[in-house]
Amino acid sequence: MNFDRIKEKLSILADAAKYDVSCSSSGSQRKNSNKGLGDSSGMGICHSYTEDGRCVSLLKILLTNHCIFDCAYCVTRKSNDIKRAAFKVQEVVDLTINFYRRNYIEGLFLSSGIFKDADYTMERLIQVAKKLRLEENFNGYIHLKSIPGASDELMREAGLYADRLSVNIEIPTKSGLKMLAPDKNHDDFIKPMEKVKNEIIQYKQESKLLKSTPTYAPAGQSTQMIVGASGESDRDIMYSANFFYKKYDMRRVYYSGYVPVASDPRLPSIGSAVPVLRENRLYQTDWLLRFYGFDVREILNNDFLNLELDIDPKLSWALRNRHLFPVDVNTVEKQLLLRVPGIGLKSVNKILQARKFRNLTWDHLKRIGIASNRAKYFLTCNSGENELKEYSSENLKQIILKNSVSKFRNTLSPQLSLF
Ligand code: SF4
Repeated sequence: MNFDRIKEKLSILADAAKYDVSCSSSGSQRKNSNKGLGDSSGMGICHSYTEDGRCVSLLKILLTNHCIFDCAYCVTRKSNDIKRAAFKVQEVVDLTINFYRRNYIEGLFLSSGIFKDADYTMERLIQVAKKLRLEENFNGYIHLKSIPGASDELMREAGLYADRLSVNIEIPTKSGLKMLAPDKNHDDFIKPMEKVKNEIIQYKQESKLLKSTPTYAPAGQSTQMIVGASGESDRDIMYSANFFYKKYDMRRVYYSGYVPVASDPRLPSIGSAVPVLRENRLYQTDWLLRFYGFDVREILNNDFLNLELDIDPKLSWALRNRHLFPVDVNTVEKQLLLRVPGIGLKSVNKILQARKFRNLTWDHLKRIGIASNRAKYFLTCNSGENELKEYSSENLKQIILKNSVSKFRNTLSPQLSLF
């Protein structure tokens, strides 16, 4: 083995993979039952993200950064003049096992540019996973990227060896995709998602009847959208995400701020990266849809196309719906309690438990851990009194902002930081 060449390939192909943020490894139940290597359950794979979004507990690489496509937003596009490299299947297997044995990683995240065609590339990705599972007895976490346009048969096979599969939709709208990746077909993304969803359902049903049924993609599927490459509003992005959650049972949708990598009139100019705060607000909205019972149209709609950057989306919604507040913490139903700014899911459950035994006061709520600097304007404790209810929403927002310490204060400040 030529170690220098492998090192060089690793440096090129790990760097090319850093733009993909969809590598969370939660939710897999693969057990080490054959005395093999690794165990993606129980031990708890930790996810550690570097500043540029890489999950460092997984070996995160591309099989190759050669690509027949020319997607304008992608550093790997064929017209980009960069160093190219490709791993052989066995090289990725050896690297994974060696890194695993040295305790550097707990699993593999493998994506790829498209070599010759979708099936040819997908076959190679599957070969890596298959060799790791069958020849090396590897039970660690494997996340495989599905190549848009890969055949149903290959998608079926991929899920037998991978914990998670993902197809990155990349551009949230069909029109954006057409503009930035005219060679690509929107249906080529949708077909593998549909296939994976159906296979997961089918394998689950079969396993109820037949204990020996193999697991199929036990950590489900995910997708990633690039934010800010093609001018979509937050409404467009979250409507797409909502569609993918509902229609294809996505475990996660990831939002990745576009990093300008090309001078192209169709794209934002180099140096104008998407603020990290926009990504953050999209993730908060995603959370509200999945765990807080919000409908996407309540948060974003024709009158409200983009999320406010200076306040979180729940507070923003509450300020637009003051007629629903204040609510009494001792009597309000769960659905509305979840919508009170400053109260998270865990606190809601604690409140519901605690109020079975006594009437709660602000002292109790502070001990439970709610953020009273926001909640106190929307909540009462038996008294019917709440602070500043006569203030307009805009005034209230300014008061809350003044009394809050945001970790994003520097990002939001219009003034230059001098120190
Ligand atoms: S197909 Fe994938 S790897 Fe190739 S240019 Fe498009 S986004 Fe990049």
